[in-house]
Amino acid sequence: MTDPILFIGLGAMGTPMSRNLGAAGHPVVLCDLREQHAQALAAERGVAWVPLAQAGTVPARTVILMLPDSPAVESVVSGLLTSLPAGALIIDMSSSLPTSTVALAQRAAEHGLAFIDAPVSGGVARAVTGELTIMVGADEAEFERALPILASMGTEITRVGPVGAGHAMKALNNLLSAIGLVGASEVLAIGAKFGLDPKVMLDVLNASTGGNHATRVKMERFVLSRAFDSGFALSLMVKDLRTALELARATQTPSPMSTLCLDQWTAAHRALGDDADHTHIAHYVERRAGIELRPGPPAPAAVPHQVPADSKSEDAEMTSQDEVQEYIDSMARSRGYVLNYHKIMAKHDYETLKAANQLVHAAYLKERTLDRRTKELIFITSLTVMRATKSHIQSHIKVALDLGVTPMEILEAIEIALPEAGVVAFQHGFDAWAEVVGADGIEPRVEAFNASAG
Ligand code: NAD
Repeated sequence: MTDPILFIGLGAMGTPMSRNLGAAGHPVVLCDLREQHAQALAAERGVAWVPLAQAGTVPARTVILMLPDSPAVESVVSGLLTSLPAGALIIDMSSSLPTSTVALAQRAAEHGLAFIDAPVSGGVARAVTGELTIMVGADEAEFERALPILASMGTEITRVGPVGAGHAMKALNNLLSAIGLVGASEVLAIGAKFGLDPKVMLDVLNASTGGNHATRVKMERFVLSRAFDSGFALSLMVKDLRTALELARATQTPSPMSTLCLDQWTAAHRALGDDADHTHIAHYVERRAGIELRPGPPAPAAVPHQVPADSKSEDAEMTSQDEVQEYIDSMARSRGYVLNYHKIMAKHDYETLKAANQLVHAAYLKERTLDRRTKELIFITSLTVMRATKSHIQSHIKVALDLGVTPMEILEAIEIALPEAGVVAFQHGFDAWAEVVGADGIEPRVEAFNASAG
């Protein structure tokens, strides 16, 4: 008899995936944090199960993980590294962080184990039918080894690169999917408020260039039906978007649209909570628009053909506690720092803070001809000239370093203050720089006063 496959993570996806694995003739041992759930599934299918604490006792040469996120994957794998037989293959099918995946693969290799990533797309519906798209990060040999197992759960199976590449691909797929869904929700909301029938809009969009997976599948099945039951949690989508934005940051790829998308999904998560399905993003859009998307002509009350002259802007409506909190979080994400006065103004004079920030956004954050790194250097020079507080200069130095600017390039930017603003201004920026980058100097070999300024 073939070695058993240990399947850990029996949630919305893992339950049907493990069923298909078993149906294809692979002997499966079920495992989940929720022991009763694993036990009940095993009894229903007539297969074995094991409590998580005893997962290491299963003589499995293959382990499949379908867990919520990287921390869960890391904790489960840490418990298995020393107990699995040498040469065993761990396949992480969850949507995890690529950096964590690469690190886990290295740890697994140190124990003589193989670790690959094979995240999926297609949702619960295609997990049930065994028609998932599977994007694999592995070398050729491990890919070939995993293929017969993966083929019982998916139909489109592609090796996209070495370990970690599957998880990067998955996060980027979900980024595009999330942009598509929030975009479709906004388009239907605008149309419905104008008097268009959302169902008719979908039919037209699907026969036009604007159609996407959200308009073809999700909007009608999960939103217009009011079911909101795709089985993919909104919180998991936010996790995937964060992963994608991490990739954007690490690769220094300007992605303002993606940042805005993450902001919208994070605000929706905050407003709707952990139980929300990801299709509830449309409900979040509806709530803000003051409309409900249903098939049929919208009620006349929902059709203001003319915008009242004194109507408030979208920004002016954003005054709930949630929105203010989200505003600060979003600043932290897009700039990489938040100053003390931002936090206090957010609480005490949000409107003025927003107005001031629009100026900062237009002049500094918005990508035009100068890239963000050049702008950051210019900012550091101007803060040095103005003798801004040390912490203010340092926050920009840290952002510049994060963006890949070298300590020497930053020092050169500070030195530009010397000819016009003078040594005292220069020393101000220089102090901030030396502290952040941990620069040291050359001590005199003769006795001298220690002049601390500089
Ligand atoms: P889920 O929350 O429904 O299921 C997760 C399961 O893992 C639960 O049964 C939970 O009890 C179990 N679990 C959590 N921590 C554990 C631990 N430390 N040890 C053992 N078991 C643990 O999630 P899901 O929707 O099945 O998604 C699983 C993964 O697949 C996620 O990474 C998600 O982003 C991804 N994904 C989901 C979908 C979808 O449509 N639901 C689609 C594609 C990818």
